[in-house]
Amino acid sequence: MTQPVPSRPHFDPDCPFCRIAAGEIPADVVYSDEQVLAFRDIAPKAPVHVLVIPRPHFADVRELGADPESAAAVLAGVRAVAEALALPYFTTVFNTGAASGQTVLHAHAHVLSGNGVMWAHGQ
Ligand code: 5GP
Ligand code: ZN
Repeated sequence: MTQPVPSRPHFDPDCPFCRIAAGEIPADVVYSDEQVLAFRDIAPKAPVHVLVIPRPHFADVRELGADPESAAAVLAGVRAVAEALALPYFTTVFNTGAASGQTVLHAHAHVLSGNGVMWAHGQ
């Protein structure tokens, strides 16, 4: 018998990315659908720097990866960003944990492109 999945909040009023997904905080949106939102990073670390978030709240990629449908939707969102911006190449990063540099505890994929993108922990 399968264990019931514990319920968790899909909207955290203290989470900036939940608030962006709800339209409460403005963002420069690149792609949007029912499951994900993609918007430009407020402090870009590359000429193209877009964040792809699931609309429901997941703290990080560990939680996101436990929900295969939402995880696939984020990857489809990465693909949609690459299509929308006609990116010939790009780097995708999921920081997990403060020591990795994760500062926003709502799972997000960074999509970076242009000028020899390098990414190190804590950037
Ligand atoms: P992390 O460091 O958690 O992997 O990435 C969080 C990213 O979110 C950072 O690159 C930061 O610049 C970006 N960020 C934080 N707050 C906001 C915001 O309110 N709007 C936008 N567009 N980006 C944000
Ligand atoms: Zn959130």
